[in-house]
Amino acid sequence: MSGATVEPLTWKDYKSQVVPTWCPGCGDYGVLNAGYRSFANLGLDPDNTVVVSGIGCSSRFPYFVRAYGMHTAHGRALPVAMGVKLANPSLEVLVFGGDGDGFSIGGGHVPHICRKNADLTYVMMDNGIYGLTKGQISPTSQTGMVTKTTPYGGPDMPLNPLAFVLTYGATFVAQAFSSKPKVLEALISQAVKHKGFSFINVISPCPSFNNVNTFEYYKDKVDEIPSDHDSSDLAAALKLAIDSKNSGRVMQGIFYQTERPTLVENLKSIRAKAKGSKDFDVNKVIDLYKA
Ligand code: SF4
Ligand code: MG
Repeated sequence: MSGATVEPLTWKDYKSQVVPTWCPGCGDYGVLNAGYRSFANLGLDPDNTVVVSGIGCSSRFPYFVRAYGMHTAHGRALPVAMGVKLANPSLEVLVFGGDGDGFSIGGGHVPHICRKNADLTYVMMDNGIYGLTKGQISPTSQTGMVTKTTPYGGPDMPLNPLAFVLTYGATFVAQAFSSKPKVLEALISQAVKHKGFSFINVISPCPSFNNVNTFEYYKDKVDEIPSDHDSSDLAAALKLAIDSKNSGRVMQGIFYQTERPTLVENLKSIRAKAKGSKDFDVNKVIDLYKA
């Protein structure tokens, strides 16, 4: 956690004047409310907090939070957030967005943010559909889902976001369900406190356009991660991510957490090395590029 903290603010103090425009019953309301409460618990200073998003229903998130916000281009929230963090590492930077935005058009950015261990908190609201454009299959849609653009059923295998980020080196990986606000609130707080890249996959149903993955569908599928799970064991975390996805279970909690130098720490140490070297001459680098 890097932003300055303030107190005492209540969760309502993090509400902006913009009223959410999501459909009634949208899972994203649960994520927003859990976010407010977690920001209040953490005592985040709105003047030192930046909420970044891409495009999609859930990417409206920054409008509803009293903090700095950036509603950027489709799939580009992570690199923009990384730029914000690099420009001012003392800011607390959070990214909120959906499955299509994050793992389809934005999917090429995710591995690099993970392996660089950029100190960001990324909350991905996974509804298995493109909601803003009124219901097309997304990278996490179940195989065979029928939509207006896939009348014979989408043939593709759904992507596993947890296994994806674990494979590429995310240092905090968790999962929650949008209508279990206490668990989600605690996980957001832990993710923000974590030093390095934190990812939370939040299953957040879209009652308007995904008639497969409904609240009713998940009713008996949400479970806690087994108490004997070792969250420092990457192989165990990957196995849990794959097994639970294959069995259709939504395991809530921390799959994996580890520590390694963050992007900002690595850059600081490179800067220190470069400044300390008598041989370093920026003009030589410029000449190399000109050659
Ligand atoms: Fe939520 Fe779906 Fe409505 Fe978008 S279309 S606001 S995801 S319920
Ligand atoms: Mg979606």
